[in-house]
Amino acid sequence: MSEIRKEEEKSLNFLEEIVEQDLEAGRYTTILTRFPPEPNGYLHIGHSKSICLNFGLALKYRGKTNLRFDDTNPVTEDTEYVESIKEDIRWLGFEWASELYASDYFEPLYEFATRLIRLGLAYVDDSSSEEIAALKGTPTEPGKNSPCRARSVDENLRLFAEMRAGKYRDGEKVLRAKIDMAASNMHLRDPIMYRIKHAHHHRTGDAWCIYPMYDFAHGQSDSIEKITHSICTLEFIPHRPLYDWFIEKLGIFPSHQYEFARLNLTYTVMSKRKLLQLVADKHVHSWDDPRMPTISGYRRRGYTPESIRTFADKIGVQKRENLIDVSLLEFCIREHLNRIAWRRMVVFDPLKLVITNYPEGEEMLTTENNPEDPGMGQRSIPFSGQLYIEREDFMENPPKKFFRLAPGQKVRLKSAYIIQCDEVIKDASGHITELKCSYLPGSKSGGDQSGTKVQATLHWVSVPHAVTLELRLYDRLFKVEDPSNAEGDFKDYINPDSLQILPAAYAEPSLRTAKFSERYQFMRKGYFTLDKDSSEEKMIFNRTVTLKDNWAKEQKKS
Ligand code: ATP
Ligand code: MG
Repeated sequence: MSEIRKEEEKSLNFLEEIVEQDLEAGRYTTILTRFPPEPNGYLHIGHSKSICLNFGLALKYRGKTNLRFDDTNPVTEDTEYVESIKEDIRWLGFEWASELYASDYFEPLYEFATRLIRLGLAYVDDSSSEEIAALKGTPTEPGKNSPCRARSVDENLRLFAEMRAGKYRDGEKVLRAKIDMAASNMHLRDPIMYRIKHAHHHRTGDAWCIYPMYDFAHGQSDSIEKITHSICTLEFIPHRPLYDWFIEKLGIFPSHQYEFARLNLTYTVMSKRKLLQLVADKHVHSWDDPRMPTISGYRRRGYTPESIRTFADKIGVQKRENLIDVSLLEFCIREHLNRIAWRRMVVFDPLKLVITNYPEGEEMLTTENNPEDPGMGQRSIPFSGQLYIEREDFMENPPKKFFRLAPGQKVRLKSAYIIQCDEVIKDASGHITELKCSYLPGSKSGGDQSGTKVQATLHWVSVPHAVTLELRLYDRLFKVEDPSNAEGDFKDYINPDSLQILPAAYAEPSLRTAKFSERYQFMRKGYFTLDKDSSEEKMIFNRTVTLKDNWAKEQKKS
């Protein structure tokens, strides 16, 4: 079945239904969505769900998507984050129509605020944040009006202008919307629109010392850009009446807010604040540490944009919070890498093997680069009388059904010959140092005339041709499924063994020319990609994912 057919047959998600209804009813001729990150950290896999959703909707209905930096909080934001966010979105395969900044709207937002003051719908309050909280009431008790609520329009205009001019210190005054201190929705109890903050902003510098709150900036920015569908996560449902109130009272373009469930993944945390702690406290090396659930971490680990998009598609769009099993993400990357990864042989824990009847020298063998894709062609691998095999592929006293190498037992070497183990060499302490073997000259892969059947095929590397690699093997960063909701601090649940380094694995020589853009399957071992820490002297590979989902099994054993 073609991809397009499959696409058509899939039922619409609730947002697609809304968009189709809006287009059919002629409410809009084209849709405009936005992705509104706050540049206070690197994007994580949760954001990729929002990115795929916003950009995906626009692509599907021939609309557009803006990238809007929600940079209204000067203290936590930084240009470094702006650049990383753009790189990550492009890497995921999306391009925005316009790159915009909420801070570019500080002037129109100020004008909107004065308009509300003139309408008698906003006032300057001198109360401290404690006093404001004390009068706010509780969900079951109404709040009380602030003594400043009765201020005249003129006085409010003058005070607000003075706030902007820098006459007051941080926290001395705020601007509040005048709505209803008895509203059952706490967000409507005269919410704060502006606060004073004498802080340097990454884009506007020292031009402003008052900054709009999220609720006042977000919907108004949507409206200025004429966003048709403003999609956010479920925790903003109670903010929606306020979103609508500001737009209605100002009489500006009626953008609408829709909410979907955020992505939560097992064995990780998904908030920038928590991810920042992991970096700051050095539990990981950086934001792009391959154990991090950041997009840059997944990229460095070897994930492909396709696999992340497929994952976003598979999890779909829900209206209820849930916890998605990280093995679904691993399934998506495995499936993609199986199709595109170059097969290579690498021995992680070497045991030397000498083929006593093999002639001096070497020969070149030919093997396919990927059995899933003949188009990826073939490569040559040098074979010689001295090889490394995986230590775990040999047992001196094997149990029944151990089909790999053992004294007197035969196996095939991948794309090469059948060998038999004749003798085990040990050092003084009894440690096995070498195997003496013989090979069947007529058993070469592709033209086997030996008539011998074997049960196992082992990967191997020729000793004189081997390239040394450092391998970095990653496990889950947390020991429990839901560290954010576990008792105590989420950092108590960090897995101390999430990174295992193998300083010297031996690889076939074709890996010497490995590229960052390529993906590899180290046969029988897992999927790997070159890490950016690699140098001329040392090649370093990250394990993206194991070949099979054996995690649950491993856990039961330990
Ligand atoms: P965090 O709590 O991680 O800091 P945030 O919501 O504060 O996340 P923003 O930069 O404000 O981060 O988010 C940009 C967009 O991405 C928002 O529309 C937000 O709803 C969405 N988003 C953030 N986290 C997730 C998630 N886990 N799943 C889906 N969408 C998300
Ligand atoms: Mg946020």
